[in-house]
Parts: sequence; structure tokens; C-alpha cells
Amino acid sequence: MNYKEIKLNEHQGQPKVLVIYTGGTLGMVYDQQKGTLIPLPFDQIAQYVPELSRVPAELTIIPVEPPIDSSDMNPEIWVELARLVHSNYDIYDGFVILHGTDTMAFSASALSFLLENLGKPVIFTGAQLSLGVARTDARENVITAIELAADQNERKPIINEVCIYFNGRLLRGNRAKKYESSQFDAFQTENYPMLAEVGVYCEYNLPYLLPKPTESSLQLHSEMDASVLIIKIFPGLKVEFLESMLSTPNLKAVVLETFGSGNASTKPEFLKVLEEVTVKGILILNISQCVGGSVRQQDYATGLGLQKVGVISGKDMTPEAAVTKLMYLLGRYEDLEKVKELAQNNLRGEMGE
Ligand code: ASP
Repeated sequence: MNYKEIKLNEHQGQPKVLVIYTGGTLGMVYDQQKGTLIPLPFDQIAQYVPELSRVPAELTIIPVEPPIDSSDMNPEIWVELARLVHSNYDIYDGFVILHGTDTMAFSASALSFLLENLGKPVIFTGAQLSLGVARTDARENVITAIELAADQNERKPIINEVCIYFNGRLLRGNRAKKYESSQFDAFQTENYPMLAEVGVYCEYNLPYLLPKPTESSLQLHSEMDASVLIIKIFPGLKVEFLESMLSTPNLKAVVLETFGSGNASTKPEFLKVLEEVTVKGILILNISQCVGGSVRQQDYATGLGLQKVGVISGKDMTPEAAVTKLMYLLGRYEDLEKVKELAQNNLRGEMGE
């Protein structure tokens, strides 16, 4: 695909940052006729952030056409975004992806898997209020995300991973979650410390940032296989409904959202349905409905029951990281044993040991 590049300033000699605009509330305006918020083309948006001409970075912007509400995000666009980073990797020092908040944690997780050996910052940000609104949070989020993407220590990037920057917090992308739909502090990570807190100064939490990769070249993975489901169990879930979801044609893997530390019903008919599926070679990955803590299938009989029928532990992964990791692994490997093995390993800082 050919992209239009827009130069935003002429700050030559400063770190070069590529901003990729995908849409989201940040760049939306109210459409009187439709009565809803709709995305604006980026050339009309840059005028709302005159500060972009003063940030300490040489800035180029690529608008992905058409701009979308992130509820319309999909694996094809994730691959396209990863490709854009990869093809511009040697030209720029850092990348900022402007994205709707609703599915930002999915996209940041997906890109963390698609971009292996990343040695530069890729920072997602967005806003709760659009740039056209006087009280918008967009301006601060965009400017700080750009400054973080440009930040260097002895001419080397400080950040070597995919992150989300939002409302003063820099978070690992595949550990983050949208928690809040109306306050400005929309994102948190429950199972991993913040990577930086930005107030008057930027305080990095250096021991928690991913180190520079030992392999020097960025590897792009461009296949994702979305033959997956997320199934959230609840007391009273009818076994026949579960069975019907699990017998979906072409299903290859399931993220099973269980209770507490990875527990589910011990009813034999429930476990039998799961066993029939794992025996067929469909992978079932257990993650918790709790936002904090980890799956420990050996702790309770209710977790052990799952382990015995072949369900594997997703430890402390977010649902966003779990589902995109499975799409990436299924896209990359045909051998389901390999997918199963890697699904339980920490690949990009998305899970604890
Ligand atoms: N619906 C919007 C989106 O995710 C919400 C936002 O940007 O905050 O694209």
C-alpha cells in the first residue's frame, strides 16, 4: 500500500519520529447529520496541535486511510501497522501510533508479537476527548508520546518495546488494559509495574523496561490466524452452549476466562466437553477473569480438573495479550504442539515466569 507522508516540522538533527494515525476519538468530530462522532482526516487534525512544531523531534505523519473507530480494528490492519514500522525502521528513531482507546490494548499486544527483536520505541496513544474539545486530553497524550518515542540516552533509545502512553503513565502494551471509559486515566496494568510516570519529569522504571535485543535486526511476522475464541465462563453456563461454541468449524484455539486463580466447575459433563476438544488438538488456554494475579491450576481441585483435561495455563496474561498471542502463534506455526509450547512461554514480556 502507498502511504502519504506529511512532514510536520523541519527539526533536522533531532531524533526522527514517525507518527501513524489510525483514527479513534482523538481525531473525531461530531457529525450533526448522523448524530454521532465520526473520524476526521489527519490533515485537518494537525492544525489542532500547533505544539507539534515545537516538540524536540523531527516529525513525519502517515495517516492510514480511512481513519477508523478502533472497534473496527482487525488482524489485517495490525499486520499493516507492523509492516509500516518495519519498512521505516531504519529511517526513524521511534514510532507513535495514534489509535482509538477501545481496542488499543489488543493492537499494542498484537504488534508486540508481530515485531520480534524490537530495539526502538513503538508507543500507542489516543484520547478520551477529541482534539476539537477544549478540555481534550489528546494534546498532552500525543505530545508526551512523541517525546517518549524520541527520548534517547547517549544517542540510543531508552524504550525497546511496544507501549501504551496515557494520562501520565507509560505501560507495557501487552500488559495493559482499558479500565475506564469516562475518566482520563483509561489504562492500567495490574500485573506489571508502570514503565514510566510522567509529570514535570519523566521517571523511568528502568529495571522493568525490556533490554535492547541481542539480535540486532527487527523481524517482521506478517501472518495472523484468527481461528480463535474467547469464552468467559459463569455460574450457570449451559454445557450445551459451551459445546456448541467449542464445535465451531475451523476453531483452533480458545482463551478460556475462568474464575479466580484459574478455576472452573468440577462437573464431569463440563470437563468432558473440554476434554473432547483438547483431544481433537484444539488448544485451550486458561486465563483468569481477575485483572490481578495469575492462573495456578494446581492450587484447587477446580483448577486441577482443567489441567487433567488438557487445558494449559496462560498464567497472568491479559485476555488481549492471550488472544493476539494465539493468533500470532497459529499464523506462524502449523505444528499445534509448538503453538502449545510457546503459548505457555514468555515471548515479549507479556507473562510472568
Ligand atoms: N470508540 C473510540 C475508539 O476506540 C473510543 C476512543 O478512541 O477512545 O476508536
